[in-house]
Amino acid sequence: MQQSAQPPWEIVERGVFAIGSCRVCGWQSPARRAYSTARREATEHGDVCPGPPSAIELAPAPQTPAVP
Ligand SMILES: [Zn+2]
Repeated sequence: MQQSAQPPWEIVERGVFAIGSCRVCGWQSPARRAYSTARREATEHGDVCPGPPSAIELAPAPQTPAVP
């Protein structure tokens, strides 16, 4: 079966653990022994994902005043 709409996250398997990893913002779930738990947490993250970091306006670094 094919899904045209892929979620922005994927489940990474690391040994016996499954970790949800967001491709959009880089979020990662705690390592879970249950694939279903990691998947559920990743799904929940998808609802609150803040989006790609580049979309967040970074405040310019404050300039250090030149002290003579
Ligand atoms: Zn995310």
